[in-house]
Amino acid sequence: MKRRNFIKNASITGIGLTISTSVLNCKDHNPEKNHNTAMAPINTTPIVVATWDVKESTQKAWEVIQNGGTALDAVEQGCMVEEANEKGQTVGKGGLPDRDGNVTLDACIMDKDGNCGSVVYLQNITHAVSVARKVMEETPHVMLAGEGAQQFAISQGFERENLLTDASKKAWENWKINSEYKPIINIENHDTIGMLAIDKNGDISGACTTSGLAYKMAGRVGDSPIIGSGLFVDNEIGGCVATGLGEEVMKTVGSFLVVELMRQGKTPQQACEEAISRIVTKPNSDYKNFQVGYIAVNKKGETGSYAIHQHFSMTKYQDGVNETIQSDYIIKT
Ligand code: ASP
Repeated sequence: MKRRNFIKNASITGIGLTISTSVLNCKDHNPEKNHNTAMAPINTTPIVVATWDVKESTQKAWEVIQNGGTALDAVEQGCMVEEANEKGQTVGKGGLPDRDGNVTLDACIMDKDGNCGSVVYLQNITHAVSVARKVMEETPHVMLAGEGAQQFAISQGFERENLLTDASKKAWENWKINSEYKPIINIENHDTIGMLAIDKNGDISGACTTSGLAYKMAGRVGDSPIIGSGLFVDNEIGGCVATGLGEEVMKTVGSFLVVELMRQGKTPQQACEEAISRIVTKPNSDYKNFQVGYIAVNKKGETGSYAIHQHFSMTKYQDGVNETIQSDYIIKT
């Protein structure tokens, strides 16, 4: 049962009347701190934000919204642009492989009603984000993995493809020359594509897609397909997506944390900064050697982005302007 229906039904039957009253009556719900959760209609105009410099992806998502599409359609189709781009070596086709030479993809998607779908360790299918959407819409599950995910994708009409391009194969062969196991997290160039959008109805959705850490161990899965880590959306509050070393994002349930901080009244920028600070202030954090970046949007269309190191960026399409903005970062030395 959907959350709103549950609240509605509970009020009608008298069960949970207290809950429904306090949830629906925001004046009783600490208005000082919760300005982002105000129930009065908010006049939000459409917006698309994405991790890194991916203007073609945000352009596509923006067009979907301008043509009357939902935020869900927008984030899926926006991510698909980068998944199909063979030159991008961190997402979809052409992604760098694991240490055994296999390209394995992780992706997830989340809609305005809190529904979500995810695929992990998916091979031979370019559009992992679309398979994740199918998991959400066509199965009673949230996540499918590996061979099962691939079989499901094929049953849904997706075609098997070799995702390892010549360029990525060559890069892997060069990496193998140095036999020490050290997966590479890219601090300077774009990695995971995480995208959030608000459509003309003011509804929020998000998606995240990646080939994960380059030269990772076979079977390794990062934060990107994990709801609450790589992506989280609450249509009453806002959304967040992450990029960078997934292990560190998962340990702090990063995207969920950012959304919950916004629920408590922080701006998207403040929430991203707090979530990054939680990572670097952990005891014995090795933050000097890895990157994590967050981007967030709230229900009002305000945005934020923050990272551990410089070179992280957010692409934002708002009011007809598609621009990539360098993010602020915590480690200045
Ligand atoms: N977060 C991704 C992972 O850990 C990688 C990335 O964003 O570059 O798999």
